[in-house]
Amino acid sequence: MSSRFLREDLSLFSPYSVTYSPDLIKLDANENPFELPDEVKERIKEEFTNLHLRIYPDPTAFELRRCISSFIDVEGLDESNIVLGNGSDEILQYIFIAFLNRKDSVLYPNLSFEMFSILSQIVGARDIGLDLNESLTLDLSSVINALVTYKPKIFLLCRPNNPTGWAMPKEELLVILDKSRELDTLVVIDEAYSEFMGESLAYLVRDYDNLIILRTFSKAFSLAGLRLGYAISNEEIIRDLMAVKLPYNVNIFSQMVGRVVLEYSDMILSRIRFIVEERERVYRKLLELPRVRVFPSSANFLFFYCEEENLMDELLSYGIKIRRFEPRQCLLKNAYRVTIGKREDNDRFINAMEEILS
Ligand code: PMP
Repeated sequence: MSSRFLREDLSLFSPYSVTYSPDLIKLDANENPFELPDEVKERIKEEFTNLHLRIYPDPTAFELRRCISSFIDVEGLDESNIVLGNGSDEILQYIFIAFLNRKDSVLYPNLSFEMFSILSQIVGARDIGLDLNESLTLDLSSVINALVTYKPKIFLLCRPNNPTGWAMPKEELLVILDKSRELDTLVVIDEAYSEFMGESLAYLVRDYDNLIILRTFSKAFSLAGLRLGYAISNEEIIRDLMAVKLPYNVNIFSQMVGRVVLEYSDMILSRIRFIVEERERVYRKLLELPRVRVFPSSANFLFFYCEEENLMDELLSYGIKIRRFEPRQCLLKNAYRVTIGKREDNDRFINAMEEILS
């Protein structure tokens, strides 16, 4: 039960809910199955001994922003185009706080990252959901129609999308960006999983002054536990986000780890190809299973429907945790998302599924 002090308009608020279960085979949170390579961990240990924990970190995280801008490697973009967050979800929060007045509308696909709706409730915005079609993708015309009809302040899109794994084709996104610019809608493209499709649209920030790209170290860089994410945009938008962020939101340790992992980015990101190969293997296996409807994915997870009544509990009895969605909308009825893990964990998942569904 909430306290009597809670804002009235939050009385029906449903927060993000996750349970912490590190001892299971965790295929529920889109984490990377690989730890950082030992060499990188050793380097972090060495650097740690030289950290001055006594003093506050650089509030602008200048050095790390500089390293990120070289990593992004887009001509014309530098540290003034980057802001850092304690996870990219914190930057999303800053975006909602900085740019939305109460009752402003926010547009996003009906099946999308849950934080969009949670943050929208917190700031008292009006959210408008875009219906997906049968194949769980968006029709360009329906997006354009919604933009024209509602003239939302912000349009949010994950590319690839969480939880469906679908990535909107770039050509369609360009049409949306043109229309949004004309209508003065801010477009946020959340690229949390973009490394798994091998394409980032960060360079478009030079062409569109209404665009924010969100990225994270949590997925491809194996650092979900560290909490580090960033946004790329034009200088004015970055300045606005810097202005509303808490001064020391990214601690001194995270700033150092971020710099170190970028030095080893080739080594760390080389593991993506195993995940992508495994994703395709698990996809093919799921296609063969009865009562399962699985969707192609460009990310490190697969979305599927399964009619088995107690699938979650049955998988838990095998020690495997995947993500089940509350059927708040019909698209989420019997809906599951499984993260691609290490080969042996994926095998255990597939074997368990085969046994459960046989
Ligand atoms: N965007 C999307 C689409 C996500 O799925 C997630 C994590 N589940 C995030 C952003 C937030 O990532 P983080 O806060 O770990 O950077």
